Amino acid sequence: MIRATIWGENVHEKESDIVAEIYPNGMHSCIADAIRGDGIEAITATMDQPEHGLTEARLAETDVLVWWGHKAHGDVDDRIVERVAEAVWSGMGAIFLHSAHFSKPFKRLMGTPCNLSWREAGERERLWLTSRNHPIAAGLPDSFELEYEEMYGEPFGIPEPMETVFISWFQGGEVFRSGVTYKRGAGNVFYFRPGHETYPTYHDGNVHRVLQNAVRWAYNPAARIAQPTHAPNVPVDSAPEPLEERGPKLHKPGEEGYR
Ligand code: ZN
Repeated sequence: MIRATIWGENVHEKESDIVAEIYPNGMHSCIADAIRGDGIEAITATMDQPEHGLTEARLAETDVLVWWGHKAHGDVDDRIVERVAEAVWSGMGAIFLHSAHFSKPFKRLMGTPCNLSWREAGERERLWLTSRNHPIAAGLPDSFELEYEEMYGEPFGIPEPMETVFISWFQGGEVFRSGVTYKRGAGNVFYFRPGHETYPTYHDGNVHRVLQNAVRWAYNPAARIAQPTHAPNVPVDSAPEPLEERGPKLHKPGEEGYR
């Protein structure tokens, strides 16, 4: 069983009647319902919970973390951001949705501005597969449409992706790399563009399929790496081959080195 945790900011749903009407139980609940089943269990976590619902114990029991945020990116505690990044480096999968391109953990993992252009006009989005046999595209047609979406346009300030799985075209003419994969440490990372809060995107069957596929793809069954940021010193007498020490050095024997 793959254990997914769906993290929702859960702010728009409380402040906007429009969003609450589309997602009466919160966007995170709708996304969890779409992902749950067929070998995947999905629970939710929200920002208002202690430690944003992402305690050490919770992350240790999460195979894939799914993140939706928009309005309150700046309110996410930096300690939790670092905890999420370390979990990814140690092997946890992570999926960032829509406006999570500007979330702290995504930017931390990408190391780039992750900026883009946008327009809120309820226009049609057409997503094209760029990789027909990619596991995240399994069971999908070569293209599918979302009748109402926010536009995100290039240039998208991300590092060059490991793979591009979808490209979007918008009614207004822009295009966007809307499904991209990365490896960060031992963790698989996927960004998926659709999901503006005032449109019913997370009720769409093709989007459900992408989310389920992405959770399966991001799942890393290997044991977590215990200290993913640890850089051990290997003293001369522990080198795999006999080695005579020479030349100047700044480190003392047994010293752990720089951090
Ligand atoms: Zn949006």
